[in-house]
This record gives sequence, C-alpha cells and structure tokens, in this order.
Amino acid sequence: MKKASVLLIITGGTISMGRKANNSLAPLSCNQVLASIPEIQDMNVNISSVAFSPLIDSSDISLDNWVSICEIIEQHYDSYDGFVVLHGTDTMSFSASVVSFMLENLAKPVIFTGSQLPVGVHRSDAKENLITSIEIAASKNEKGSSVVQEVCVFFEDQLMRGNRTTKRNAEEFDAFASFNYHNLAKSGVHIKFYPEYFWENRSKKALKVHKTLDNNIAILRLFPGINQHTVEAVLRTVGLKAVILETYGTGNAPSCKWLYRLLAEANKAGIVLLNITQCRAGSVEMGRYATSLNLKKAGVVSGYDMTVEAAVAKLMFLLGRYNDNEKIKKELNTSLRGEVTII
Ligand code: ASP
Repeated sequence: MKKASVLLIITGGTISMGRKANNSLAPLSCNQVLASIPEIQDMNVNISSVAFSPLIDSSDISLDNWVSICEIIEQHYDSYDGFVVLHGTDTMSFSASVVSFMLENLAKPVIFTGSQLPVGVHRSDAKENLITSIEIAASKNEKGSSVVQEVCVFFEDQLMRGNRTTKRNAEEFDAFASFNYHNLAKSGVHIKFYPEYFWENRSKKALKVHKTLDNNIAILRLFPGINQHTVEAVLRTVGLKAVILETYGTGNAPSCKWLYRLLAEANKAGIVLLNITQCRAGSVEMGRYATSLNLKKAGVVSGYDMTVEAAVAKLMFLLGRYNDNEKIKKELNTSLRGEVTII
C-alpha cells in the first residue's frame, strides 16, 4: 500500500512552546517544534507542515483562525490522507467543535492534539500525543479509505469525537473527556478502534467548507440567587441572536416569574434560547420537572446532551448560515456531526 501522507497544521499551544529567560512559556518557531521531536521523521508516513505565523496561545483563538484552519484543509484536501492540528488545550474543544461543523461531508481524519507540558521538556506528553495522532491520521482500512473520517481530539491514550470533548483537567495528562459519548479509539500496545461509534459520512458528497460564523451569542449560567438585572443585561445585549442557558440537572431553572417573562420576551424578539445542562454528563429533558416545563413554554429549545463547547460552535455555525429561526431551531434538534443524542 502507498505510504500515507499527513499534513500537520501547527497553530500553537503548549505543545509548541518553550521557556523564555524569565521562565514564562512562549511560542517557538515551527522548525524548533519539529526539531524537538526528531522521531516523527522516522515514521512510515510522509509528513509536511504548515504553521500559523506567529504561533498562538489558544486563549487567543479567533473566528478568523478557525476559518484559516478550514481553508488549509480545503486547499490540501486532495493531497493528504489526513490532518493533525497542533493546538493549545485551553480552547481545543471549542476549535474541534467549530471545525467539525464547518467541514461538511468530511471523509478524512482531522485530529486535534496538544500537550500539557511543552515539547522538549522532560516528561512532556507532546511526543506521544503527536506521534499517535499522526498514526491515526495515516490509518487506512483494507479498501484504502481512511479509518477515521471525522474531526477528533486525541489526548493521552484516547481518541474522542471532537465535538463531544471537554477539557476537564488543567494538571493531569489525561486532560480531555467525552462524557456523553463513547471514545472512538484507545491506544496501548496497539491502537484499538471502535468503529461502531464512528460518525458515518453517509452522503459521500464532496467536501463543503462553511466559512461564515456569527458570534452574536451569549452564555447565561444560572446560579441560586441570580438577579433580574444580570439576566436583563445579558438578554438586552446589542445585536444578540442566541443565548445558551446553562441550567441545573436535567435542564431546570428557578421558578421565578420574572425569569420566564424575560425569556419569553427574548424569544418573541427573535433570540434563540438553548438549554444546556451544567452537569458534565447526562442530558436535558425538558418537561421532566415543572421548572423546565416553564422554560419550554417560554420558547427555550433543548440542547439534550451537547457540551457547552459544541453548543457555542453549533450556534455560531447555524447563525452564520441561516436567518430563519425556525430552521435554526430544527437544526439544533438534529445531529449534524454526531454532536448530540436526541432522546
Ligand atoms: N495556554 C495554552 C493554550 O491553550 C495551554 C495549553 O496548550 O495546554 O494554548
């Protein structure tokens, strides 16, 4: 079989950082990053790279950066078997989620990875994460098609659907989790794939890249004692088109009348309201308790088991694509890239 080829897209993050004289971490050059892991040159894979200039801390990731990642993939789509995106861990789950929506009909692997310790530092997790990600991106089945055909995050020893991930730990190497969806592979002595959980690109159409995103959204996280002025301030934000309401448990909110009135007014004014649970695992079930039935009556849409990262990404993508709120609400309650389980 022909040697697989993988394109590394280096955006920045700890994986591409080194220590400066004052002991703070700052981005290295692309060549310094690659030189720190000489082993990748010995892999049985043709590897090329493109890098952001300058490399960035992922806390600075922007909508334009997401478009750039997708344009690089679009431009090189036919020339490579897979793509590995080196990215900071802080916002990796947001980026993997957004990119999953932007790339429609994806039939090749796009693997996001990073590290908790900088490349070149003793005990760094960078080498293992990068090498295994490249192996996964290069993996083909007996028919010669890519084994993985979706946007993923690989970290520590787990391959996860990107739009199901959350950064759960700022300290341990096992930094990411997919709380509501089974992992897609586990690496040990061998890489064991779980194809029964793969997202199937049933359409077989050509890759379509959506480049318009709309960030006129807000997150309103409820807490006991939240006051009316805070909620009003958020809902009256200039240009606001959608709000993620982070609720309790299975999607519940306090039963104060002013809250439902404000939400119903916002809904009437054309603001899309999406209910996402504050729990890391489990799903919103609107109507299970009276407190969430009221939200439903106010026009709030269930986000089921979506992560808040996927909800942000999906809203930016849908608002960039459609003007029609009914269409947006319908798409919110449809699994577009395997990001949600509709119950
Ligand atoms: N601040 C870094 C970033 O997200 C953290 C990391 O990569 O782990 O770019």
